Amino acid sequence: MKYYICVALLAALLAGCSSVPNSSSSSSESSSVAAAAPTTAPTSTPVPATATPAPTASPTPVPEQSSIEVVDGITYVNGILIANKTYSLPADYAPGVNEEAKAAFEQMKQAAAAEGLNIYISSAFRSYEYQTKIYNNYVARDGQQQADTYSARPGHSEHQTGLAFDLNSIDDSFANTPESDWVAQHAHEYGFIIRYPADKESVTGFKYEPWHLRYLGVDTATKVYESGLCLEEYLDITSIYPQ
Ligand SMILES: [Zn+2]
Repeated sequence: MKYYICVALLAALLAGCSSVPNSSSSSSESSSVAAAAPTTAPTSTPVPATATPAPTASPTPVPEQSSIEVVDGITYVNGILIANKTYSLPADYAPGVNEEAKAAFEQMKQAAAAEGLNIYISSAFRSYEYQTKIYNNYVARDGQQQADTYSARPGHSEHQTGLAFDLNSIDDSFANTPESDWVAQHAHEYGFIIRYPADKESVTGFKYEPWHLRYLGVDTATKVYESGLCLEEYLDITSIYPQ
């Protein structure tokens, strides 16, 4: 009798233990799905990571696992369009300059001007064909190995996304100017990040480019800025050409 009660108690305890996390996790799942559902309206914004069913069963529970989604040959990681050495764009992808990014830059330009600083876009959208010309010229001049440190191969340039802007001189003379310092401090407030930071060359695959901005929107740009990580680290992805 005593034994029976103990077993019954134990069973009740175990049932209690296992049911609590189960019910809380399933309710949080369903609430997150419910919360995500209204936002899956026909906007161009890619669906947040939580709304997409995991394509593979995760072997270990990684809380911030990146969701990689390819739509019409374009890769989105956690909803962020990515073009780097690992992830390329289709040759015919030619969206032109992103209007939202352009408008955000104009706001930033005005804020800089109010402090007596002159920042301007020197290179924005570049087509696959144009990038081919640029890259081939650099390869002819410096050799492929060298060119690969500062110029993207066709299909791998962030400029083809229409979301990247090169400012002012587009060379090392921009570094440490008042304009460069101001951009480094304030770009995220307008939705931009310095895409290829100093000392992240081994991760981004590109040399430090204080003039190259990538538009992410204010929320994401601020999170990336505050993380101190480059975009590859932030999204836990690589930037390496497939051999
Ligand atoms: Zn650039």
